[in-house]
Amino acid sequence: MILLDGKKLSAEIKSELASETKRLLESGKRAPHLAAILVGSNGASETYVASKAKSCGEVGFISSVIRFDESVSEKELLKKIIEINLDPAIDGLIVQLPLPKHINVQKVTETILPQKDVDGFHPVNVGRMMQNLPCYIPATPFGIMMMLERYRIETSGKHCVVLGRSNIVGMPVSILMARNNYPGNCTVTVCHSKTSNLEEITRQADLLIAALGSPGFVKEDMVKEGAVVIDVGITRVPSKETKSGFKISGDVDFDHVASKCSYITPVPGGVGLMTIVGLMKNTLTAAKKEIDF
Ligand code: NAP
Repeated sequence: MILLDGKKLSAEIKSELASETKRLLESGKRAPHLAAILVGSNGASETYVASKAKSCGEVGFISSVIRFDESVSEKELLKKIIEINLDPAIDGLIVQLPLPKHINVQKVTETILPQKDVDGFHPVNVGRMMQNLPCYIPATPFGIMMMLERYRIETSGKHCVVLGRSNIVGMPVSILMARNNYPGNCTVTVCHSKTSNLEEITRQADLLIAALGSPGFVKEDMVKEGAVVIDVGITRVPSKETKSGFKISGDVDFDHVASKCSYITPVPGGVGLMTIVGLMKNTLTAAKKEIDF
């Protein structure tokens, strides 16, 4: 069993991003600039935005956080997004989810200029991804692709089973794994809460990508011998072993599944760290205006 080490890999990619930033500065350009909009004071959102800003600092990117109170109107939020769309000093914009219920997330997503949509959620980027055209790929699926690529894991002709069909993980990763590309060229099955015989399907997976948000859901008897298992799940569960009183749990019962796998990601230390570098890579691409929309 080989551990897919997100910590080592993300450090490697960050070092490459830092070198590229240095080259940009040496050529007289400014550093890539990622802006994040944070609405309200959700603890998890605060942590995610802070870690994205920290990663920007580590590779020499500029980052800014625009904060709004929970009560901000949709109109005011959209106005800010349009302002950032027009600001040539900002390359990429993300709006941290979840948003308060009175704000229409789809409207927010579609207001971000596709050229600055480094989260890859705008329908233009999703459509371009479907058609295998240059685009911003959502950060978590992008992180998974980089992981498969850098570990040179064979994907062509394999059966990839994806657990979950969300717009941010399950659905885009299933498209990427089915595309005529490397990584890709898989036969893909997408499972969700209405799937019958889910365990029979997971047992057929050469590659199993779990993105449900259900701690320890994937058990030993659901995994084929020699499978590649990618665990996207991040759920806080109560724990007596930690000072904070909780620990992060993945969707895979790692302790019992790992010995059956050819490769497996740990949680934490796997996909989560790759997600941040996915976002950073998109921001660099935006700064270099590499995609011709
Ligand atoms: P989500 O929007 O809640 O989607 C969960 C998906 O799993 C849904 O499609 C749901 O099916 C399916 N599902 C839930 N329970 C199921 C069950 N018992 N059997 C079969 N399917 C089931 O979640 P998400 O945003 O994709 O996130 C999934 C997990 O990944 C969460 O733990 C999240 O924290 C984590 N995550 C991690 C990263 C990272 O960087 N590592 C990034 C994003 C998300 P239905 O569609 O039928 O409801």
